[in-house]
Amino acid sequence: MTSLVQPRLVNDPFGDAGLYLDFRYARRALLFDLGDLAPLSPRKLLRVSHIFVSHAHMDHFCGFDRLLGVCLGRPLRLELFGPPGFVDRVQHKLAAYSWNLIAGNAVDFVIGVAELHGDSLARAAEFHTRDSFQRRDVAPPVIENGILLDDEECRVRAVVLDHGIPCLAFAFEEKLRINVWKDRLRRFGLPVGPWLTDLKKAVRRGEPDDTLITIPSVTPDRRSERTFPLGQLKAEVLHIEPGERIVYVVDAVYHAANAGRIVELARDADQLFIEAPFLDEDAAIAARKLHLTAAQAGSLARRAGVKRVVPFHFSPRYVAQPERLHQEVEAAFTGASAGPVGHR
Ligand SMILES: [Zn+2]
Repeated sequence: MTSLVQPRLVNDPFGDAGLYLDFRYARRALLFDLGDLAPLSPRKLLRVSHIFVSHAHMDHFCGFDRLLGVCLGRPLRLELFGPPGFVDRVQHKLAAYSWNLIAGNAVDFVIGVAELHGDSLARAAEFHTRDSFQRRDVAPPVIENGILLDDEECRVRAVVLDHGIPCLAFAFEEKLRINVWKDRLRRFGLPVGPWLTDLKKAVRRGEPDDTLITIPSVTPDRRSERTFPLGQLKAEVLHIEPGERIVYVVDAVYHAANAGRIVELARDADQLFIEAPFLDEDAAIAARKLHLTAAQAGSLARRAGVKRVVPFHFSPRYVAQPERLHQEVEAAFTGASAGPVGHR
Protein backbone atom coordinates (compact mmCIF):
# COMPACT_ATOMS: atom_id res chain seq x y z
CA MET A 1 0.00 0.00 0.00
CA THR A 2 1.24 3.49 -0.79
CA SER A 3 2.51 5.44 2.21
CA LEU A 4 1.22 8.88 3.12
CA VAL A 5 4.74 10.31 3.06
CA GLN A 6 7.99 9.76 1.28
CA PRO A 7 11.03 10.24 3.55
CA ARG A 8 14.30 11.44 2.03
CA LEU A 9 17.58 12.35 3.68
CA VAL A 10 18.38 15.92 2.65
CA ASN A 11 22.09 15.22 2.15
CA ASP A 12 24.32 12.22 1.50
CA PRO A 13 25.32 10.27 4.63
CA PHE A 14 28.47 12.38 5.09
CA GLY A 15 26.58 15.67 4.79
CA ASP A 16 24.60 17.65 7.34
CA ALA A 17 21.73 15.96 9.13
CA GLY A 18 18.20 16.38 7.82
CA LEU A 19 15.16 14.36 6.79
CA TYR A 20 12.44 15.67 4.46
CA LEU A 21 9.02 14.00 4.66
CA ASP A 22 7.01 14.77 1.57
CA PHE A 23 3.26 14.13 1.66
CA ARG A 24 2.28 12.33 -1.53
CA TYR A 25 -1.23 13.67 -1.89
CA ALA A 26 -0.91 17.17 -0.52
CA ARG A 27 1.32 20.19 -0.95
CA ARG A 28 2.84 19.62 2.41
CA ALA A 29 6.10 18.47 3.91
CA LEU A 30 7.76 18.14 7.30
CA LEU A 31 11.43 18.72 7.93
CA PHE A 32 13.61 17.22 10.64
CA ASP A 33 16.72 19.35 11.30
CA LEU A 34 17.95 22.42 9.47
CA GLY A 35 21.47 21.54 8.33
CA ASP A 36 22.62 22.39 4.81
CA LEU A 37 19.37 22.69 2.81
CA ALA A 38 21.01 23.37 -0.59
CA PRO A 39 19.64 20.13 -2.12
CA LEU A 40 16.04 21.21 -1.42
CA SER A 41 14.53 23.45 -4.09
CA PRO A 42 12.53 26.54 -3.04
CA ARG A 43 9.40 24.71 -4.22
CA LYS A 44 10.13 21.89 -1.78
CA LEU A 45 10.97 24.25 1.09
CA LEU A 46 7.74 26.18 0.55
CA ARG A 47 5.77 22.96 1.17
CA VAL A 48 7.18 22.62 4.69
CA SER A 49 4.67 23.38 7.45
CA HIS A 50 6.49 22.13 10.57
CA ILE A 51 10.19 21.88 11.34
CA PHE A 52 11.63 19.80 14.14
CA VAL A 53 15.18 20.69 15.16
CA SER A 54 17.07 18.18 17.28
CA HIS A 55 19.61 20.65 18.67
CA ALA A 56 21.53 23.72 17.61
CA HIS A 57 24.94 22.35 16.65
CA MET A 58 25.76 24.03 13.34
CA ASP A 59 25.29 20.98 11.15
CA HIS A 60 21.67 20.77 12.37
CA PHE A 61 20.71 24.45 12.32
CA CYS A 62 22.81 26.40 9.78
CA GLY A 63 20.14 25.97 7.08
CA PHE A 64 17.80 28.34 8.91
CA ASP A 65 19.04 31.29 6.81
CA ARG A 66 18.24 29.61 3.49
CA LEU A 67 14.79 28.67 4.69
CA LEU A 68 14.21 32.25 5.84
CA GLY A 69 15.37 33.67 2.50
CA VAL A 70 13.01 31.41 0.57
CA CYS A 71 9.99 32.14 2.78
CA LEU A 72 10.38 35.93 3.10
CA GLY A 73 7.69 37.89 1.31
CA ARG A 74 5.21 35.03 1.34
CA PRO A 75 2.06 34.79 3.46
CA LEU A 76 3.22 31.69 5.28
CA ARG A 77 3.38 30.47 8.81
CA LEU A 78 6.09 28.03 9.83
CA GLU A 79 6.08 26.13 13.10
CA LEU A 80 9.48 25.31 14.56
CA PHE A 81 10.16 23.05 17.52
CA GLY A 82 13.44 22.60 19.31
CA PRO A 83 15.15 21.87 22.63
CA PRO A 84 15.47 24.23 25.62
CA GLY A 85 16.97 27.59 24.58
CA PHE A 86 15.67 27.27 21.02
CA VAL A 87 13.46 30.39 21.06
CA ASP A 88 16.50 32.50 21.99
CA ARG A 89 18.51 30.93 19.17
CA VAL A 90 15.86 31.72 16.55
CA GLN A 91 15.60 35.25 17.95
CA HIS A 92 19.37 35.72 17.64
CA LYS A 93 19.37 34.40 14.05
CA LEU A 94 16.64 36.88 13.10
CA ALA A 95 18.31 39.74 14.98
CA ALA A 96 21.45 39.29 12.87
CA TYR A 97 19.84 41.06 9.89
CA SER A 98 18.39 44.51 9.17
CA TRP A 99 14.69 44.46 8.31
CA ASN A 100 13.90 48.13 7.65
CA LEU A 101 12.94 47.58 3.99
CA ILE A 102 10.36 44.88 4.59
CA ALA A 103 8.94 45.80 8.01
CA GLY A 104 5.34 46.89 7.55
CA ASN A 105 4.91 44.84 4.36
CA ALA A 106 1.35 43.77 3.68
CA VAL A 107 2.52 40.19 3.35
CA ASP A 108 3.32 38.77 6.75
CA PHE A 109 5.60 35.76 7.01
CA VAL A 110 5.31 34.34 10.54
CA ILE A 111 7.55 31.95 12.45
CA GLY A 112 6.14 30.21 15.50
CA VAL A 113 8.73 28.63 17.79
CA ALA A 114 8.27 26.34 20.78
CA GLU A 115 10.71 24.58 23.11
CA LEU A 116 10.28 21.08 24.42
CA HIS A 117 11.33 20.65 28.07
CA GLY A 118 10.87 17.05 29.20
CA ASP A 119 7.59 16.01 27.61
CA SER A 120 5.83 19.39 27.48
CA LEU A 121 6.29 22.77 25.78
CA ALA A 122 7.68 25.29 28.25
CA ARG A 123 8.33 28.38 26.13
CA ALA A 124 6.94 29.72 22.84
CA ALA A 125 7.19 32.86 20.74
CA GLU A 126 6.15 34.30 17.39
CA PHE A 127 8.17 36.39 14.98
CA HIS A 128 6.33 38.45 12.32
CA THR A 129 7.89 40.11 9.27
CA ARG A 130 5.59 43.05 9.98
CA ASP A 131 7.25 43.63 13.35
CA SER A 132 10.79 43.32 11.94
CA PHE A 133 10.77 39.89 13.58
CA GLN A 134 10.65 41.32 17.10
CA ARG A 135 9.99 38.51 19.53
CA ARG A 136 6.44 38.16 20.83
CA ASP A 137 6.25 35.69 23.70
CA VAL A 138 3.08 33.60 23.61
CA ALA A 139 1.62 30.92 25.86
CA PRO A 140 3.10 27.57 24.82
CA PRO A 141 0.49 25.10 23.49
CA VAL A 142 -0.48 22.50 26.08
CA ILE A 143 0.71 19.08 24.94
CA GLU A 144 1.14 15.69 26.57
CA ASN A 145 3.78 13.03 26.28
CA GLY A 146 6.02 15.05 23.93
CA ILE A 147 3.42 15.09 21.11
CA LEU A 148 4.39 18.19 19.09
CA LEU A 149 2.00 17.74 16.18
CA ASP A 150 -1.33 15.93 16.15
CA ASP A 151 -3.72 16.42 13.23
CA GLU A 152 -6.04 14.31 11.10
CA GLU A 153 -3.20 12.81 9.10
CA CYS A 154 -0.29 12.37 11.44
CA ARG A 155 1.34 12.74 14.81
CA VAL A 156 4.92 13.69 15.72
CA ARG A 157 6.30 12.86 19.14
CA ALA A 158 9.68 13.84 20.54
CA VAL A 159 11.87 12.55 23.34
CA VAL A 160 14.90 14.25 24.83
CA LEU A 161 18.25 12.46 24.49
CA ASP A 162 21.59 13.26 26.10
CA HIS A 163 24.25 14.65 23.73
CA GLY A 164 26.05 16.66 26.40
CA ILE A 165 23.16 19.05 25.72
CA PRO A 166 19.50 18.04 25.27
CA CYS A 167 18.97 16.64 21.76
CA LEU A 168 15.51 15.73 20.48
CA ALA A 169 14.66 12.52 18.63
CA PHE A 170 11.37 12.32 16.73
CA ALA A 171 8.76 9.73 15.73
CA PHE A 172 6.38 10.48 12.85
CA GLU A 173 3.22 8.40 12.79
CA GLU A 174 0.71 8.27 10.00
CA LYS A 175 -2.72 8.01 11.67
CA LEU A 176 -4.29 5.29 9.52
CA ARG A 177 -3.52 4.16 6.00
CA ILE A 178 -6.77 4.23 4.09
CA ASN A 179 -7.17 3.14 0.48
CA VAL A 180 -10.31 2.93 -1.62
CA TRP A 181 -11.27 -0.24 -3.50
CA LYS A 182 -12.13 1.38 -6.85
CA ASP A 183 -13.76 -1.76 -8.28
CA ARG A 184 -16.11 -1.94 -5.31
CA LEU A 185 -17.07 1.71 -5.79
CA ARG A 186 -18.08 0.80 -9.33
CA ARG A 187 -20.00 -2.23 -8.10
CA PHE A 188 -22.02 -0.03 -5.74
CA GLY A 189 -22.46 2.61 -8.45
CA LEU A 190 -20.58 5.18 -6.35
CA PRO A 191 -18.60 7.98 -7.99
CA VAL A 192 -14.98 8.93 -7.40
CA GLY A 193 -14.80 12.46 -5.98
CA PRO A 194 -14.04 14.77 -3.06
CA TRP A 195 -16.50 12.91 -0.85
CA LEU A 196 -13.87 10.16 -0.55
CA THR A 197 -11.47 12.65 1.09
CA ASP A 198 -14.20 13.60 3.56
CA LEU A 199 -14.88 9.92 4.18
CA LYS A 200 -11.20 9.24 4.98
CA LYS A 201 -11.11 12.24 7.32
CA ALA A 202 -14.20 10.95 9.15
CA VAL A 203 -12.51 7.56 9.62
CA ARG A 204 -9.29 9.19 10.90
CA ARG A 205 -11.28 11.31 13.33
CA GLY A 206 -12.77 8.08 14.69
CA GLU A 207 -16.37 9.07 14.02
CA PRO A 208 -18.98 6.44 14.97
CA ASP A 209 -20.08 3.82 12.43
CA ASP A 210 -23.64 5.16 12.28
CA THR A 211 -22.47 8.59 11.05
CA LEU A 212 -24.22 9.24 7.74
CA ILE A 213 -21.98 10.05 4.78
CA THR A 214 -23.56 11.93 1.88
CA ILE A 215 -22.50 10.87 -1.59
CA PRO A 216 -23.34 12.97 -4.67
CA SER A 217 -25.18 11.34 -7.53
CA VAL A 218 -23.16 9.89 -10.43
CA THR A 219 -25.58 10.94 -13.13
CA PRO A 220 -25.74 14.61 -14.05
CA ASP A 221 -29.47 14.44 -14.86
CA ARG A 222 -30.38 13.22 -11.41
CA ARG A 223 -29.31 15.57 -8.62
CA SER A 224 -30.37 13.30 -5.84
CA GLU A 225 -27.78 12.42 -3.21
CA ARG A 226 -27.45 9.17 -1.35
CA THR A 227 -26.40 8.54 2.22
CA PHE A 228 -24.60 5.53 3.66
CA PRO A 229 -23.57 4.76 7.24
CA LEU A 230 -19.83 5.23 7.76
CA GLY A 231 -19.50 1.66 9.07
CA GLN A 232 -20.87 0.18 5.85
CA LEU A 233 -18.51 2.23 3.67
CA LYS A 234 -15.56 1.26 5.92
CA ALA A 235 -16.39 -2.40 5.52
CA GLU A 236 -17.20 -2.40 1.83
CA VAL A 237 -15.15 0.21 -0.02
CA LEU A 238 -12.16 1.00 2.20
CA HIS A 239 -8.99 -0.86 3.07
CA ILE A 240 -7.66 0.36 6.41
CA GLU A 241 -4.27 -0.42 7.95
CA PRO A 242 -2.24 1.03 10.81
CA GLY A 243 -0.17 3.98 9.60
CA GLU A 244 3.52 4.01 8.91
CA ARG A 245 5.98 5.01 11.64
CA ILE A 246 9.21 6.79 10.74
CA VAL A 247 11.72 7.59 13.46
CA TYR A 248 14.63 10.05 13.31
CA VAL A 249 17.50 9.76 15.80
CA VAL A 250 20.67 11.85 15.69
CA ASP A 251 23.48 12.87 18.00
CA ALA A 252 23.25 10.85 21.19
CA VAL A 253 25.85 9.38 23.51
CA TYR A 254 25.52 5.64 24.06
CA HIS A 255 24.36 4.91 27.58
CA ALA A 256 21.53 2.95 29.12
CA ALA A 257 19.13 5.87 29.53
CA ASN A 258 19.57 7.08 25.93
CA ALA A 259 19.38 3.53 24.60
CA GLY A 260 16.14 2.92 26.51
CA ARG A 261 14.56 6.12 25.17
CA ILE A 262 15.62 5.38 21.59
CA VAL A 263 14.33 1.80 21.72
CA GLU A 264 11.01 2.94 23.20
CA LEU A 265 10.57 5.68 20.58
CA ALA A 266 11.55 3.44 17.67
CA ARG A 267 9.59 0.36 18.81
CA ASP A 268 8.25 -1.50 15.72
CA ALA A 269 8.93 1.49 13.44
CA ASP A 270 8.73 0.89 9.71
CA GLN A 271 11.83 2.99 9.11
CA LEU A 272 14.50 4.17 11.55
CA PHE A 273 16.84 6.90 10.35
CA ILE A 274 19.68 6.81 12.87
CA GLU A 275 23.11 8.36 13.13
CA ALA A 276 26.07 5.99 12.78
CA PRO A 277 29.07 8.34 12.73
CA PHE A 278 31.83 6.01 13.97
CA LEU A 279 32.95 2.42 13.66
CA ASP A 280 32.81 0.43 16.86
CA GLU A 281 36.62 0.14 16.83
CA ASP A 282 36.55 3.93 17.37
CA ALA A 283 33.98 3.69 20.16
CA ALA A 284 36.23 5.70 22.51
CA ILE A 285 36.15 8.62 20.06
CA ALA A 286 32.39 8.24 19.64
CA ALA A 287 31.96 8.32 23.42
CA ARG A 288 34.17 11.41 23.75
CA LYS A 289 32.21 13.20 21.02
CA LEU A 290 28.89 12.02 22.52
CA HIS A 291 27.80 10.08 19.41
CA LEU A 292 26.75 6.50 18.62
CA THR A 293 28.81 3.93 16.77
CA ALA A 294 27.44 2.01 13.80
CA ALA A 295 27.22 -1.19 15.86
CA GLN A 296 25.39 0.66 18.62
CA ALA A 297 22.95 2.11 16.07
CA GLY A 298 22.35 -1.33 14.53
CA SER A 299 21.83 -2.99 17.90
CA LEU A 300 19.34 -0.29 18.96
CA ALA A 301 17.42 -0.85 15.72
CA ARG A 302 17.41 -4.59 16.44
CA ARG A 303 16.22 -4.11 20.03
CA ALA A 304 13.44 -1.81 18.81
CA GLY A 305 12.31 -4.39 16.25
CA VAL A 306 12.23 -1.88 13.40
CA LYS A 307 11.55 -3.12 9.87
CA ARG A 308 14.24 -1.06 8.15
CA VAL A 309 17.22 0.90 9.42
CA VAL A 310 18.85 3.73 7.45
CA PRO A 311 22.19 4.87 8.89
CA PHE A 312 23.52 8.36 8.17
CA HIS A 313 25.51 11.28 9.69
CA PHE A 314 28.83 9.52 9.00
CA SER A 315 32.12 11.02 10.23
CA PRO A 316 34.34 12.32 7.40
CA ARG A 317 37.14 10.09 8.69
CA TYR A 318 35.44 7.19 6.85
CA VAL A 319 34.78 9.03 3.59
CA ALA A 320 36.78 6.44 1.64
CA GLN A 321 34.99 3.49 3.25
CA PRO A 322 31.33 4.22 3.94
CA GLU A 323 30.50 0.56 3.26
CA ARG A 324 32.21 -0.39 6.56
CA LEU A 325 29.69 1.76 8.47
CA HIS A 326 26.77 0.31 6.49
CA GLN A 327 28.02 -3.24 7.04
CA GLU A 328 28.55 -2.73 10.77
CA VAL A 329 25.03 -1.36 11.21
CA GLU A 330 23.56 -4.21 9.15
CA ALA A 331 25.51 -6.91 11.03
CA ALA A 332 24.33 -5.63 14.42
CA PHE A 333 20.77 -5.13 13.11
CA THR A 334 20.42 -8.63 11.68
CA GLY A 335 22.25 -10.29 14.57
CA ALA A 336 25.12 -11.41 12.33
CA SER A 337 27.48 -9.68 14.80
CA ALA A 338 27.30 -9.59 18.57
CA GLY A 339 26.61 -5.83 18.43
CA PRO A 340 28.72 -3.14 20.02
CA VAL A 341 31.90 -4.49 21.50
CA GLY A 342 34.02 -1.38 21.92
CA HIS A 343 34.10 1.23 24.64
CA ARG A 344 30.67 1.62 26.27
ZN1 LIG B 1 25.52 17.51 17.74
